[in-house]
Amino acid sequence: MSLHRRKFLKNSFVLASGSLLQSANFRFQPEGKIITVNGPIDASQMGMTLVHEHVQVDFIGADKVNPGRYNADEIFNTVLPYLQQIRNAGCKTFIDCTPPWLGRDVKILKRLSDTTGLNIITNTGYYGASADKFLPASVKTSVADEIAAIWTDEAIKGIDNTGIKPGFMKLGLDNVPFSHSIEKILKAASITYLKTGLPIGVHTTRGGEPAKKELQLLNDWGDPADRWIWIHAQNEKEINYHIELAKKGAWISLDGISKSNVADNINTLQQLKKEKLLHKILLSQDAGWYNIGEAGGGKFRNYMDFFDSFLPALKKSGFSETEIHQLTFVNPSLAFTLNVKR
Ligand SMILES: [Zn+2]
Repeated sequence: MSLHRRKFLKNSFVLASGSLLQSANFRFQPEGKIITVNGPIDASQMGMTLVHEHVQVDFIGADKVNPGRYNADEIFNTVLPYLQQIRNAGCKTFIDCTPPWLGRDVKILKRLSDTTGLNIITNTGYYGASADKFLPASVKTSVADEIAAIWTDEAIKGIDNTGIKPGFMKLGLDNVPFSHSIEKILKAASITYLKTGLPIGVHTTRGGEPAKKELQLLNDWGDPADRWIWIHAQNEKEINYHIELAKKGAWISLDGISKSNVADNINTLQQLKKEKLLHKILLSQDAGWYNIGEAGGGKFRNYMDFFDSFLPALKKSGFSETEIHQLTFVNPSLAFTLNVKR
């Protein structure tokens, strides 16, 4: 089957599932594979999912970050009760968005998954936001193909000889115009996507313009919009950007939910519901984390606001069980399903 034909079928499938989900009590059973730190699972096993959270982060910078800066047992013991809390609240899958060079430790994630029974998903990719502070120096002297080869290797063989594989790519960038390094890592993501089918999540805090540029570049390189996740889309206050990009097929990640902004998030969701775009929205909190370098990991923001404050308010605001199922399970499973075509 030609690439265009496949793309056409795939896009029509996504559109069809979206519009079906808008109607009545239809319950969509997702298909395909999701890659967790314990290997692949069926998308239908994903269950209620938090798409953007953190277990640990180290902001020291790519030139100094290393596992010698923390005690793995201390991080495990600190974070475990917080994950048990969400497991007991009905969460099934936890997506960890800490990229390499910012403290990603997949062995700790696997231990936490084994102990809690939560599916945990990790990532590959480079975080180019904050003016290259978290990019390895090699990015400057590498071409996109070489960077893609590193990420593809993690996807195929596993990360640092652990056999643990990433379930998506996590990138980060600042505003337009993009630097050479940023264009290079976006290109590397596009190459990696074609080889591995891993979705591309991009931390984009500077609003709709860089988001539009990302999607345009990825489209120019032949990637379908529905493999791209606009992370931190809530930072853009002009809803027309979300509407425009979601209509093109992109995933809009509203991942800053906390008990202090429940009303704002519900208001955004109501506007997107009016546009019949709930099938393109992802929700999470960007909460946690053990902050490496601070005593005891510093102040930890637990993951419970979503369950204690946000979901009850969503129900009260007239969102149906079907819509909540769609936002918290169906959408994540569609966004994070591996798109293996070759
Ligand atoms: Zn984050």
